[in-house]
Order: sequence, then structure tokens, then C-alpha cells
Amino acid sequence: VFREGRLEVFHEIRFQGEDLGTLFIESDMSQWNDRLQRYLGILGVLLVLSAGVTFAVSAELQGLISRPILELQRTMGTVTTEKNYALRVRRQSDDEVGHLFDGFNAMLAEIQERDAALRDVNVDLEVRKRDLESEVLERRRAEGQLKTLNETLEARVAERSAAAEARALELGRIGEALRTQTRILHSILDSMGDGVVVVNEEGRFVLFNPAAEQILRMSLTDASLADWAEKRDLRRADMVNHYPTDELPFYRAIRGESVDSDEIYMRGVEGGVWLSVNARPLKAEGGLQTGVAVFRDVTGQRKAQEALRESEERYALAVRGANDGLWDWNLKTNEIYLSPRWKAMLGYAEDEIGNTLTEWFSRVHPEDLPRVQAGIQAHLEGKTLYYESEHQMIHKNGENIWMLTRGLAYRDANGVPLRMAGSQTDIAAGKVADVLTGLPNRILFMDRIRRAMDRSRRHPGSLVAILFVDLDRFKLVNDSLGHVVGDELLVAIARRLEACVRVGDVARLGSSHTVARLGGDEFTILLDDIKDVSHATHVAERVTSTLSEPFNLSGQEVFVTASIGIAVTTSADDLPEDLLRNADTAMYRAKTAGKARYEIFDAAMRERAVARMQLETDLRRAMEHREFRVHYQPITSLMTERTIGFEALVRWQHPVRGLISPAEFIPMAEETGLIIPLGQWVLFEACRQMKEWKGRYASLPALTISVNLSSRQFAQRDLIDQIRNVLRETALDPRSLKLEITESLIMEDPNAAIAMIHQLRDLEIRASIDDFGTGYSSLSYLHRFPVDTLKVDRSFVSGMHENEEDREIVRTIVTLAHNLGLMVIAEGVETVDQMTRLKALHCEYGQGYLFSTPVPSDRAEELVIAEVERG
Ligand code: C2E
Ligand code: MG
Ligand code: MG
Repeated sequence: VFREGRLEVFHEIRFQGEDLGTLFIESDMSQWNDRLQRYLGILGVLLVLSAGVTFAVSAELQGLISRPILELQRTMGTVTTEKNYALRVRRQSDDEVGHLFDGFNAMLAEIQERDAALRDVNVDLEVRKRDLESEVLERRRAEGQLKTLNETLEARVAERSAAAEARALELGRIGEALRTQTRILHSILDSMGDGVVVVNEEGRFVLFNPAAEQILRMSLTDASLADWAEKRDLRRADMVNHYPTDELPFYRAIRGESVDSDEIYMRGVEGGVWLSVNARPLKAEGGLQTGVAVFRDVTGQRKAQEALRESEERYALAVRGANDGLWDWNLKTNEIYLSPRWKAMLGYAEDEIGNTLTEWFSRVHPEDLPRVQAGIQAHLEGKTLYYESEHQMIHKNGENIWMLTRGLAYRDANGVPLRMAGSQTDIAAGKVADVLTGLPNRILFMDRIRRAMDRSRRHPGSLVAILFVDLDRFKLVNDSLGHVVGDELLVAIARRLEACVRVGDVARLGSSHTVARLGGDEFTILLDDIKDVSHATHVAERVTSTLSEPFNLSGQEVFVTASIGIAVTTSADDLPEDLLRNADTAMYRAKTAGKARYEIFDAAMRERAVARMQLETDLRRAMEHREFRVHYQPITSLMTERTIGFEALVRWQHPVRGLISPAEFIPMAEETGLIIPLGQWVLFEACRQMKEWKGRYASLPALTISVNLSSRQFAQRDLIDQIRNVLRETALDPRSLKLEITESLIMEDPNAAIAMIHQLRDLEIRASIDDFGTGYSSLSYLHRFPVDTLKVDRSFVSGMHENEEDREIVRTIVTLAHNLGLMVIAEGVETVDQMTRLKALHCEYGQGYLFSTPVPSDRAEELVIAEVERG
């Protein structure tokens, strides 16, 4: 225990459990205390010193670590606030902190890199976003347009359906009106006294009224024209000649002709019935041709007329009695009355000849007697309308005189002849004449041929020739100058022709040349007893030259030319009719060969005539069997040698003869009217083909298709409608179509042609003048034709290399065309030389074998493809 600076210690002392005493120790502690306090002071100083040192050291140590950490923190702060990953901490030592810094910097580098990549992605995303936005905008716009489109469409549909409804209503109304009209029409037809029939192409009656059956004298249900013709034994107006079925007015109407008051005699009906028929062509559905005919029974009228004619005839006979001899033969008693004049004409006095038939017949030249008797017999049998014969009579003095005897039988009600009476005329006086010209007429002419041929048969080496002279374009004179001038011209021509045969020919008794007028503008010349054909050609030349002199008619100068056909007897079996027909055929040939010329008939011509008939039948068949093809010939630019279009040219794929050129069948197709369906088909096919090419090759340059038009097509009133239909059906752009019209066609009727071409223009279709240079059109006239193209005829192109004149013509045409702003195409370019010359004349386009012949569509398509490839 401490007490007052002393330490007192007590300690018990124990032995074996017995307290032995207590030990006490006391120690003074103040010394210790001082010492302790001293020590404690030193310890305190020491403690304060060490704490200060420790503090300084620790402060220094702390600075070493915290500074870099602060730097690090600052940098991190900047990085986070500025997002600048390019910052780096500066490394100050190589210890752990230095490593920490490296790590930090590496991390920043990494982040920077990622950040850059991220930014790229962002930019990308931005662009995409913008694209998307504009796309959305675009789409919205399109939707807007679609909507308006839809609305207009709907409006149009509504409009159209309203129109369609209106049309349906209108159609309904029209239908009703039509039904009413049909009813009216039927009742009119039923109540008509005239017969009305509609006949189809096969000659079947497709419509008829009750009167028709009455008048035609048969039931028409399921009947055909041919049945009727056969049953009723049809005759021509002369009551004698058989009426060929296919020439009946009904058939002619089917073929497109109009027939007015044609007379048909039904001999197969008791007492005979006369019909007067009017017929018109009728277009039926599908372009088929039918005919409508209206006819009436004119038997009563006709009989009255005949009675009148007979009495007139008798009166005429009486009047002529002064000059002509009269005869009257009683068929019952067989007595004949011969007038004093009759007897005097033969040199006899009244009482020198009796009243028997022998007195007459014995004075007929024995050579002519059989013919005279046969003629009389034919008339008595009712085979001829009247009797007429030219024959020789024997004069009292032994001479032969040519007489014309005419006669007529008087019959009872049953047609049995009772008497026959007539006249005898001295033909030398020229009484059997054409009223207008005074020339012999057809009857007399035929008789003269017969006589001449009989004679030539008896005299070997003596020939008979006929010249058939037909004026060219006489109709034009009649139409433009009038019939009076036309008649004047015919008379003047008659005089010139007569003068022609008189020159150098001494008229011989019984054998002389005869000029006759058959009718209209047809004259014939009979050359009797000639030695060879040169005599005939000689006369033909004389005729040509005499007609070439102008005629002065009523103060007008008129020029004419004629086409002449010559036929010469070749065999003894020739008939007069054959000879005349042959001359006619040769004349026709002269016409088609270009008029103003003569042609001599030969066997080839007969063959041609037969062949023509064959061709006509074949053509009709070919049409049905679809044997026609269209070939295409390219039209080429001479400068670039590129194809600018094609011309469609028709071909006939004949099953036996192979491919036939149009030159062979187009004229016949024209003549028969078949050109109309054929031409329409070619037009359709060519347009269809061009449209197909344009559809197949979208990048095809603007090619044109040219189609030829024939004159028959051109003359059709509904041509424009037809073309419009074809364009509609084929959907061809009208500007791709060109129609070729030959120059000669245009010149046939320039005003009509101009009007038609204007109509084509209104449809935006272009026109070319084909074969230019051959049609004699006046060049100065050209500006009036609203065409686009001239096609220079092949003949000039082919003549260019040797013929200065042809070159000049081409040059003139090209210059002229260019002045008028027309395109020029040279036809028939065959050689490089021609092409070079054409180019030198500035002709831009050509067509010809040099580039290509006309080829089938598949080969033409190769040319089309070549054009597409050239771009
Ligand atoms: P075009 O219209 O003058 O036709 C040109 C004729 O010349 C074609 O005769 C053609 O083959 C021929 N040609 C072309 N290049 C040459 C050449 O380099 N040299 C020679 N020598 N001839 C060449 P194609 O095809 O025989 O036709 C003849 C005529 O027939 C045509 O003359 C045309 O007038 C007529 N034609 C052809 N097809 C039709 C048609 O579909 N309708 C009508 N109405 N007439 C047609
Ligand atoms: Mg042509
Ligand atoms: Mg041509």
C-alpha cells in the first residue's frame, strides 16, 4: 500500500499452517517518484517527437500515393464530363501506380476505339434512318396518287357503266324499232304484187314473198335458182337463146352488179311467161355477197307491145312497099302472093311469075337455098323473133343480086303459124343499116361473114379476116362532151373507116370489104378474099393512122385511139360466130396490152382465154382454201443501209404450181372483184405482222409497213371504214401504215383520189405513189396529191446505167419530190452501180434485190432482229 509516498508491504509468515508472524517492509518511494516523473517527461518528449516524425513521414508517404491517384481521378472526371477518350494520364513512376496508369490508358484507348466504331455505326444508322424517312414520304405520296387514280378510275367506270346502260337502253329501243320495221317490211313484202327474193352466194332463196312463188311458178322453200332455171327453161329476150344460169340477174347481183329491167322468158311455162327483173347486190353479214331481186310478170305488156310492133312492122312494110318487094304466104293453102315490085326487082313482069312457093325458091341462089329454108323453118317453129336473111337471088338476065329478105309469122292464139309475110330489099341500096352511121348492122355483118366464108371455102388460098375496132375511152368523150358530140364522133369515125377500106380496093361484085357498126363504140371490118394476114395488119395500120388525126366536132378538137383485134379464118370448120369472137378476144388483148394498138388472134390467145377462165375458178378456190401468203421486202436507207420498213407483197401458194407471182393473178382478181376480200386480207395480215414485231421487240426503231391498194379496192365507198377496222383489230399505230397507190390509178380519177388520200390523212395514215413515172401524171400536178412518198418505177432505175434519159428522169423526180418535201424510194435496185448512182442523185431510199427479195415473215423477222441489234 502506498501511503504518503511510501510503500508499505505486509506479508504473513506462516509455517505449517501457523502464523508465525508478519513481515513488514516499508520503503520510501519519493525518489522513485521523482525519477519516474523524470522518466515520464523524457518519455513524453520522446512520444511527441516520434509522433511529429511519424506525421511528417506519413504525410510525405501519403503525398506519394495520393497525387497520382488524384491525377487519375481528375483525368477520369474530364473523360466522363467531356467524353474525350483521347486523353491519357501521364505515367510518373515505374511502380504499381505506373502500371495502374498504363492499365488505365490502355482501357481509354480501347474505349476510344470502340467509341469511334460506335460513331461510324451511328452515322450509318443516321443515313439509314433518313433513307427510311424519305422512303416513307415517297410511299405516302404514291399512296396519295394511287388514291386519286383510283378515284378517277372509279369515276370513269361509273361514267362508262352509265354510258353502257344508256347504250343498252338505246339498243333495246333500236331493237324494238327494228322488230317493228321488220314486221312492217314483211307485211309490205307479203302484200306486194311484185316478186321479191334474196339469193345467197350458193344461189339459194333465203327470203322471198308469196308473189315471188306465184310469178316464178314454183315453191321456193329449199329451192335454188338452178332448180328454177332448169324447170322453167329460161330464154333470153330473143326467146331463142338459152339463158345461162350464171348470167341470170340474180347471180350478177351476187357478184356485185346492178341489173335493171332485164327480160327473161320462161318458156317452160304454158303459153310462155315474160319476167322483167331488177337486181341489186346486197352485203350480208360476214362480208358475204347476196343479191336482192324484184321482178314482175310482164307477159301481158309484152304481148301488147309485140302486137304493136307487128302492126308497126306491117305499116313499115307497106311504106317501103314502094321500093321493096312484098310477099305474103298463106300456110294453109301454101299459096304465096308476090307483089309486082317483088317481081320487078328480079326483072319480071307481073304475069310472068305465078303464086306457088316454087316460083320464089327456084329463084334463090342454090348455094343459099338451104340456109333460106332453114331460117324460115326456124322462125315458124318459134325459135326466132323474126326472119331475116341476106342471100343471092337470080335475076331474069342471069345475074345474081344480093337481097335482104325479112319476114314475120302470124299465129293463132295457140301460137300455130297461119301466114308469113315480109319484104325483099335490094341490099346494094344499103337498107340494113345502123341508124346512126348508115353502116351495116350486126345482122347484115354476120350474114356477110357467112357469105365470105362460104366463098373462101370454095377458093383455096382465099382468106377472110375480121378487124374488131373498139374505141379507147369513148365513154370519156360521151361523159365530158355529151351524147350529141359522142354521136357526131361515131359518124365521123364510120366515114374514116369506110375510106380506109376503099383505098386501093376495087369493089368487086359479090365480094367487097364491109365496115359495120355492131353497137356502141364497136366497129367491125370484114376483109373478104385476102391472101394473107399482112393484108389485115395493113388495114389495121391504116385505121390507126386515120384515127390519129384529130376530129373537129362542134368546134372542139377530139383525139381518139382504138384497140383492134384481128382474126383470120384458119380452118374450113370455122363458124362466123367463132371468127367474130376471136377478133373480139384479140381486141381485148390489145386493150389490156395498153390500148391504141392491134393484136392478131392466135391459138395461144384462145388458150389464154381458156386459161383465164381456169385461173378464175382456181382463184376462187384458193381464197376458200387460204392459199395466199404475204411476203415482205425491206425498204432500205441508201445512206445508212438500214431497214426503215417493209412492203407487203402477196403470193399465191398454189398446191400444184407452187408460188405464183401477183403479176399473174392480181389482174384477174381485179376483174372478178376477188381483189376486194384478198386485198382486205393482205392489209389485215401485214398490219397484224408489224404489230407482232413491235410487240416482240420493244426497242424496235420506227418501222413502217407498206400495203398496195388496187383500183377496185380504191373505188370502194367503205374503204376508209375497212382500214379503220383493220387498225382497230390489229391495234397498229396508223402512223406505221403506208398505202401504195399506183400513179395510173390516181390518174384514172385524180379528184376522187385526192379526196380519198385526204381521208387517209385524217386517220394519220400515209400514202405513196407507186410505179411513179409510168402513169403520165403531169409533174406539175403533183403538189395537189397529199402523199408522203414517191416510188420511182423500176424501169427507170434499171435503165440508169446505159440510158441518159432514165438518169435524167430519176434526177428530175428526186429534185421535184424534195422540193415538195416528199420522200423518194427507188424501186428495183439490183446492183451496187445503181445504188451509187442513186446516192449521187440524192435519192435516200431504195428497195430491191440488192438488199433483199420479198421474203416470208420468218426471214423478214431476221431483218427486224438485225435492226433491233443495231439499236
Ligand atoms: P409493186 O407494188 O411495184 O411491187 C414491187 C414489185 O417489184 C414486186 O413484184 C417485187 O417483187 C418487185 N421487185 C422488187 N425489187 C426488185 C428488183 O430488184 N428487181 C426486180 N426485177 N423486181 C423487183 P411482185 O411481188 O411480183 O408484185 C408485183 C405487183 O403486184 C406489185 O408491184 C403490186 O402492184 C402488185 N401487188 C403485189 N401484192 C399486192 C397486193 O397485196 N395487193 C395489190 N393490190 N397489188 C399487189
Ligand atoms: Mg407497191
Ligand atoms: Mg412499184
